[in-house]
Amino acid sequence: MLLQLSIRDFVIVQDLELEFQAGFTALTGETGAGKSILIDALALALGGRADADQVRSGAERAEVSAEFSVQTLPLLQQWLVQSELQGDPGQLLLRRVVDRNGRSRALINGHVATVAQLREVGAQIILGNTYHLFVRPGMDVMRHFGGLHRFMNWDGPILTDSGGFQVFSLAKLRKITEEGVHFQNHIDGSPMFLGPREAMEIQAALGSDIAMLFDECPPFPCPHEKVAESLERTLRWAARCKEVPTPGMKFGIVQGSSFEDLRRHSAEALVALGFDGYAVGGVSVGEPEPEMMRAVEYSVPFLPAEKPRYAMGLGTPPQLVEMVARGIDMFDCVLPTRLARNGTAYTARGTISLKNAQFTLDAGPIEEGCACAACRGFSRGYLRHLVKSEEILGLRLISLHNLHFYLELMARMRREIEAGTFAAFRREFVAGYRTSAEP
Ligand SMILES: [Zn+2]
Repeated sequence: MLLQLSIRDFVIVQDLELEFQAGFTALTGETGAGKSILIDALALALGGRADADQVRSGAERAEVSAEFSVQTLPLLQQWLVQSELQGDPGQLLLRRVVDRNGRSRALINGHVATVAQLREVGAQIILGNTYHLFVRPGMDVMRHFGGLHRFMNWDGPILTDSGGFQVFSLAKLRKITEEGVHFQNHIDGSPMFLGPREAMEIQAALGSDIAMLFDECPPFPCPHEKVAESLERTLRWAARCKEVPTPGMKFGIVQGSSFEDLRRHSAEALVALGFDGYAVGGVSVGEPEPEMMRAVEYSVPFLPAEKPRYAMGLGTPPQLVEMVARGIDMFDCVLPTRLARNGTAYTARGTISLKNAQFTLDAGPIEEGCACAACRGFSRGYLRHLVKSEEILGLRLISLHNLHFYLELMARMRREIEAGTFAAFRREFVAGYRTSAEP
């Protein structure tokens, strides 16, 4: 039951503390007395939509706290413990803070929920998929929520891809014109259209901090002549993307498949147009690993070292190390969470499948010395049990570990580079990592 509601600088309320007794509570008052404001404040604490208009005029932020007794709700108490969100015994404190820009934070018992778990693993930036958000839930929903930051309650930077890669890999019945691509989405087959202008406008509506240019990603292998033709169109699209205003930075994407001359031409033409960062695209699209490394080697030397250089959609831990050795600074990769959903965890010596019977009686963590929530609190034996029981907590804990592993690998590489010891680290890491268990 609700014990107390505290409201500060919310709509017209400056400061209010309300205590509730057991049983039925009636709030009475004339029209305009503010009864509905109390309900709205409670709704906000419970996760309702945050809005800049909720901040009292002249105030920096609005705050609402709701304190509940959860003594009679053992399942909820258990969930709070499992989610590392426990507070005082039997109590649940929900707090919501909305700033003047309409951005909000939600706290459960003083812990920032979900966002905290990402922060705990050290994520600084999140990637949003333009194509997926465009298809579902769609831009009406995204605009209603005022963009992706508010939709998912993440106040850190968001990078959005342009949707190009998914249009070329997921959608059906594509027709490419100078204006863009007509396609049928992969969910219900409805006809849709994305071009350079649309892709940038969508990313602007999402509130992207780093928007990627709309590009065509040719399949592998693809003849030189076809890649060259596609590349010229992508470069014309790049010039048009540049003209569309977006709230944050714009990164260009180098294409050119496995052709040295086309990679160089693409990189130089993009740098001449001038962007905030540069990605190497069209890698990890089914080509053998040596081809992938060559595509990076053909591109990176022509991209300015003082701007971020980003390899899109990569890769395994040794691939990341090898790419960093070639001058790449940024990656995005589904492997840590995709493999976690299959019960597979990363370690410095390769992946392990926690489904395996060998872990049934294993009391050790996934990886000795790992500081993640899974390794701090749970044994391999327990995680195996959760995975085998199809308990979603198991997959979530392994996801946290895998994300922690990837982010820690990147942090480690930064430290090794700064210490001048990266070459030795690279040799040791790659030699010690068993790749045979990789999917
Ligand atoms: Zn761990």
